[in-house]
Amino acid sequence: MDVRFAAALEAIVGRRHALTTPQEIRAYAYDGGVDRSLPLAVVLPGSTEEVAAVVRACCERDMRFVPRGAGTGLSGGAIAAGDAIVISTARLCRILEIDAPNRIALVEPGVVNADVSAAAHPHGLRYVPDPSSMAACTIGGNIAENSGGLHCLAYGVTSAHVLGIRIVTPDGDIEWLGGKTVDTPGYDLAGVFIGSEGTLGIATQAVLALSPIPETVQTLLGIFDSTDAATAAVSAIIGRGIVPGALEMMDALATSAVEADVGAGLPTDAAALLLIDIEGLRDGLEGTVDAVASICRERGAREVRIAQDGPQRDLLWKGRKSAFGAMGRISPDYYVQDGVIPRSQLPAMLRDVAAAGTKHGLRIANVFHAGDGNLHPLILFDKQKEGEFDRALAAGADILQACVARGGSISGEHGIGLEKRDCMPLQFTPEDLSFMDRLKSAFNPDDRCNPGKIFPTGRRCGESARTAKSGTLDERTAALAGEPF
Ligand SMILES: Cc1cc2nc3c(=O)[nH]c(=O)nc-3n(C[C@H](O)[C@H](O)[C@H](O)COP(=O)(O)OP(=O)(O)OC[C@H]3O[C@@H](n4cnc5c(N)ncnc54)[C@H](O)[C@@H]3O)c2cc1C
Repeated sequence: MDVRFAAALEAIVGRRHALTTPQEIRAYAYDGGVDRSLPLAVVLPGSTEEVAAVVRACCERDMRFVPRGAGTGLSGGAIAAGDAIVISTARLCRILEIDAPNRIALVEPGVVNADVSAAAHPHGLRYVPDPSSMAACTIGGNIAENSGGLHCLAYGVTSAHVLGIRIVTPDGDIEWLGGKTVDTPGYDLAGVFIGSEGTLGIATQAVLALSPIPETVQTLLGIFDSTDAATAAVSAIIGRGIVPGALEMMDALATSAVEADVGAGLPTDAAALLLIDIEGLRDGLEGTVDAVASICRERGAREVRIAQDGPQRDLLWKGRKSAFGAMGRISPDYYVQDGVIPRSQLPAMLRDVAAAGTKHGLRIANVFHAGDGNLHPLILFDKQKEGEFDRALAAGADILQACVARGGSISGEHGIGLEKRDCMPLQFTPEDLSFMDRLKSAFNPDDRCNPGKIFPTGRRCGESARTAKSGTLDERTAALAGEPF
């Protein structure tokens, strides 16, 4: 790395917060997905002004940069090529204000999602979007990915809970998008920024809407002998006008891994489980719980259990939240897909997923936000076995194709990043993509901020570049080739 550029970065953030040696930057070659690439350097600014100064230093030298939160992303969004630096928000982790009367929080982007609700809890409030990764992922990453979560079915995803965002633009200016009120005049620029995957600038503060903690909550576990019956129950519950706080599904393979991991007493002989939260005012809640239990039974549930207390409920949800990690119990590696389809297509789509597994000779576990029709097939493979990783990618591409064919989308919440950029043409015309590119250029004309993400490179869907740069492993990244995903 150019010594003058390194010195400029150190002068802004201090030597301790400018990482340049291979040992220091190694962890930043990864996120939660399957791509990897070592950045040129990593800087950890401590304020909005430092972020802006770092960005301006990059602009002066025509250097690229990639914003990064906790690195739990599942589409390679926070990975930088060897010609770009990572700007980490790890030190921007303060909750600046909980304004209970106005039900808002002002936070920095590196604040961990779960910490917002923990800080709001004494005021009877919570921050609703709760990705399964909530104990680790950051608000900046959530905004960039427009993250969903277990309780987003009833209350909406991140975009429904962010009022304002302070950003550093790709040329180093500091701007507020939106504000502290529900609507601001002019264009909804906060809306444009949310879900832009770090390509329109770096969020350095956010105003979050807080919601009252429901008076009471009941958790049901529906146990089914067929996935078709379970998915039919999902549609029937919503079709009856009931909107549960959360409505999640796990198939038998996922359940066996989760049960081995957390020991929640889940029936490993069942074909599918539905995990359902009914929440709201105490008055009338029992009636809704009974109605949901009846619908499950009508649709063939062999048993419906109701969590008897908080610890039982927490254990059930712990199982769901740790499902991805639990795959380590049954497979050396896994590749998470993320597609959406209309709920009514769930039974057919699960058959498509199974067919992709059979075609490519791989096991696929399913654990997903069933109420939203947001699938997460977990494609199990062993990277030590010749060709298995490529087969996993091919199975993933088949699944995405099936999602689009069934009227759905190639991503529900994990974003496009590096991983799915070449799948964008499955869903969008060249004109659609060119329109999106023009919007990006209005913020980021030189493609300096998170380059190479979202837009297709011309490869086929499922033909992963595996690096952020060119598709060929650069020398430094090649050294990581033997490491686990
Ligand atoms: C076990 C597991 C479970 C998960 N469950 C869910 C789930 O239920 N729902 C869901 O939606 N996702 C889920 N995810 C995916 C992931 O946790 C989310 O996408 C999360 O929002 C990423 O946050 P992060 O801080 O780790 O971001 P990173 O991975 O660091 O970055 C993600 C993207 O955000 C950009 N970014 C980060 N910070 C900023 C910033 N301050 N300004 C601008 N851009 C920024 C990066 O450039 C990158 O493009 C899960 C991941 C794992 C590993």
